[in-house]
Amino acid sequence: MNTVITYSSCYTVVPTYECFNRCSYCNFRVDPGNGVSRTSLDIFDLLQKLDSERIIEILILSGEVHPASQKRAVWFTKIQETCDIALSFGFLPHTNVGPLREEEMKQLKKVNVSMGLMLEQLDPKFMKTVHQNAPSKEPKLRLEQLELAGKLKIPFTTGLLLGIGETTSDIIESLKAIAQIHQKWGHIQEVILQPHSVGSQQEANIPSFDPEKLPGIIAQTKKILPEGVAIQIPPNLVPEPNFLLECLDAGATDLGGISPIDEVNPEYPHPTHKSLLTILEPAGWSLKPRLPVYPQYYSWLSPELQQAVRLKKKSLILEY
Ligand code: SF4
Repeated sequence: MNTVITYSSCYTVVPTYECFNRCSYCNFRVDPGNGVSRTSLDIFDLLQKLDSERIIEILILSGEVHPASQKRAVWFTKIQETCDIALSFGFLPHTNVGPLREEEMKQLKKVNVSMGLMLEQLDPKFMKTVHQNAPSKEPKLRLEQLELAGKLKIPFTTGLLLGIGETTSDIIESLKAIAQIHQKWGHIQEVILQPHSVGSQQEANIPSFDPEKLPGIIAQTKKILPEGVAIQIPPNLVPEPNFLLECLDAGATDLGGISPIDEVNPEYPHPTHKSLLTILEPAGWSLKPRLPVYPQYYSWLSPELQQAVRLKKKSLILEY
């Protein structure tokens, strides 16, 4: 049995919390026009203070600007600049900012070692419930994005959001769709199983997903996903040590990006490296840092990004 669990030492940068979607469970967004957008100088100042020895990944998350909005180009440039700044300090960027056009994906591929977009759920029925006011959560659009990432050879992270009213069969169908796309392009490096966790900002009264159900879902996920696709669970959303260990026994292989703040679930702080070790080591698990791009995809990266990966790998070996 594999007894190694991986994680990425990460810092999350949010160029803007303003989002034109209104997912009813969201604890991240503010209305367009009501947020403070970070300037590139703010982002430069922020990143230059980080410990580039310890932090490997810069996760770029952002509220979304409608594709037809005049503000889209400025928003997109900010994301590109954030990636450029992260690379200039030796960090490895991973961007997850909603569905993008092909040209936008091509541009971001140049400055990201991997990218991501949650499928969330495949069934369009959620467009009448939690995603009623969130046009970019249309499953067809998100599947197209997963296809596009495969076509462009972008190492990709996707996943399911659990606890938004889905049935077991919804979960299975969503996982099968991801597996099918991966079989075609071979680009899905990890699948996140993200339990919805109640926050004080969410619009709708949607309770937290019951973490007791997670080990069973992980076991099913393992059967459906092709070998080699990591199954990721966020440890701050499975805070009960016994459940966390059950998740690992069931087949979870990765704990995702551990960042000072979980921007999507700001009321659920990430555990520290030390506190995770106190749970994992007595149960025979070892915790290993990883890069935001898995080794089987290094050859998909540009020579410049491959060099950034090589340098980061060196510091990773020195550090651990
Ligand atoms: S979950 Fe994402 S897309 Fe939905 S409202 Fe929040 S920030 Fe926007």
